[in-house]
Amino acid sequence: MKKFLLTICAALLLLATPAQAQDLGVELTDISAEDFNAPIEKFYATLPQAKGNYKSRVRPIVIEGAMNTETEVLIRALKKPVVYREMNYMFVAGTYKDYPVVIVRTEIGLANAAASTALAIKKFNPCAVINQGTAGGHDPALKIGDIVIGERSFDHTAFRSAYSAAGAGIDLTKQENIGTYAYDAATKKFQAYTEYFPDPKLLQVAKTVAAANKNFNVTTGVIGTGNSWLECIDYMNFLHDKYGSSCEEMETNVAAQICQNAGVPFIGIRVLSDNATNSREYVPETAKIAQDFVLLVVERYVRDVLK
Ligand code: SAH
Repeated sequence: MKKFLLTICAALLLLATPAQAQDLGVELTDISAEDFNAPIEKFYATLPQAKGNYKSRVRPIVIEGAMNTETEVLIRALKKPVVYREMNYMFVAGTYKDYPVVIVRTEIGLANAAASTALAIKKFNPCAVINQGTAGGHDPALKIGDIVIGERSFDHTAFRSAYSAAGAGIDLTKQENIGTYAYDAATKKFQAYTEYFPDPKLLQVAKTVAAANKNFNVTTGVIGTGNSWLECIDYMNFLHDKYGSSCEEMETNVAAQICQNAGVPFIGIRVLSDNATNSREYVPETAKIAQDFVLLVVERYVRDVLK
């Protein structure tokens, strides 16, 4: 009888434990007030390092950002954070509003975003991936600090130029976007996609959050990705006119591509840190705005879709 009661108690205890806290082999603590105010790299050093594999009863939500400025707010919002490292990429697992969330610092650019997204999917088996961060505007109607919910993304560097003879000059506006290759579940083959679309439920939730929080200036739009930073207005106007691009950055489209390969729901959400079409300013601190907004999206997604 005693043994039976003990088993029941142990089972109840296990059920009451936050999902992410199981089997990590580390002592989990909340962040102290002192650690919370520490500069970011020092703060990371205070976080417990994970030993062993991540285990969770429910699949976590992965949120990605390329740089410290784009992940710091998210990481500080986690309860019981634990750091995982893989190939020198950093992943911080914890809970947000009692739901398992993993923050990925993807590092900058297409290859890093693709690699860290693939690793995150393998390591954490997420139920959704949100890629977020800063971007440069292509739409003159958008201001620094405005948020773009990606209703579509594309690689603005994946193009075949028109032929022109030596000495004839360069006209990049004569081009055809040739897309990037992702898995098509219907044909079971990799094929070229000139654009990627977000998960409809994530898109709906993001729009709902935007409508309910008028303190954020949010629009839906097109995110152009490439390992480039454009400041030539004629070319930016061309991308805006031909492909409808609202903004450019260096990660969203490849994260969408890898998520499609793995069949994981995805959305990209960006805040404008710059917009050369109407300003010469660069305000990387705007990264906080995207993170604040994304946390609301996560909360709502858990409430309306996952529960
Ligand atoms: N200021 C940073 C460098 C940013 S590089 C540093 O000193 O380290 C560009 C990063 O910001 C990428 O992750 C990209 O996604 C985003 N980004 C913001 N504005 C951009 C723009 N106009 N063009 C391309 N990427 C931009």
